[in-house]
Amino acid sequence: MSEWTPDIARLVAFDDAEWLAVERAFCGRLLAYVARRIPDRDAREDVVQEVFLGAVRGIQLYDPAYTFEQFLFGICRNRVIDHQRRQKPTALGGGRDEDDARPSVEDLVSDDETPSRIARRNDLEREGSRVLRELVRQWVQETWSQGEFQRLIVVEALFAAGWRNRDVWTRLGLRDESTVAGIKFRALKRLREIALERGSERELLAQVGTALDEEQGLDLDLKTAWVEGRASCPARHWLARQLAGTLPEGPASFVRFHLEDVRCPWCRANLDDLERMEDERGLAPLLERMGQSTIQLLRSRSLGGPGAVR
Ligand SMILES: [Zn+2]
Repeated sequence: MSEWTPDIARLVAFDDAEWLAVERAFCGRLLAYVARRIPDRDAREDVVQEVFLGAVRGIQLYDPAYTFEQFLFGICRNRVIDHQRRQKPTALGGGRDEDDARPSVEDLVSDDETPSRIARRNDLEREGSRVLRELVRQWVQETWSQGEFQRLIVVEALFAAGWRNRDVWTRLGLRDESTVAGIKFRALKRLREIALERGSERELLAQVGTALDEEQGLDLDLKTAWVEGRASCPARHWLARQLAGTLPEGPASFVRFHLEDVRCPWCRANLDDLERMEDERGLAPLLERMGQSTIQLLRSRSLGGPGAVR
């Protein structure tokens, strides 16, 4: 089961049918993300509507190094923060679940993930972080296919959740603290090897290699690559199997850790959406309303006018 992804060229050409398909595919999970952060139902729907309109306006800036879902969640996150600021000008708590005050994984990355910020980064820096995201993703895939879920959990705890060695050791019930250090050491070693195996892109590899050698900078860069690249986010069909209780214990333990300890906001939104789909409360009326506004904006864009810019 592979996930539907839109044809970006058709989106850039303001194709009505493709944009409506985007709304159908992503509305539920965006609404689920927003629902954990905004109590008012009407306000939530307005925010989701704004996300799609923002996506139409920003589609020219879409960076294919990120998934389309990440692009939408990036806009969504900013719209939620804008909304919260308007509601409570004195208490800024952007990016946190209402049910829990612990910082979530998204608080660990930089504040502003708009497409324009991504576009502002200089090319080499962008390339460097793209390579690092790919290395990290490859490491995760390798580890996953080797069935080394304990190792995956430890590294995710260190890089994505930002736990200290000691916390990883005690909270995960490992033998001792040096087990954690050993897993971290071997993960970094393997990342360096993967970087070397990729032979080409010498200049970039040098840059990445430096990042892997400097313990301080490394943590920050790796954290960013891990979280921004959603390196460890299981595909939606894994989440569906988790929900159905059909995952074997190994992957299930990792998915549980990712959802409950790391509290990945994007996977939690997907899970909420999958749960909602199970009890069949339709999104049809909302989709109908949103579709009309989106079509209106698309019309104003494709006529070549300046349109309703922000
Ligand atoms: Zn995730």
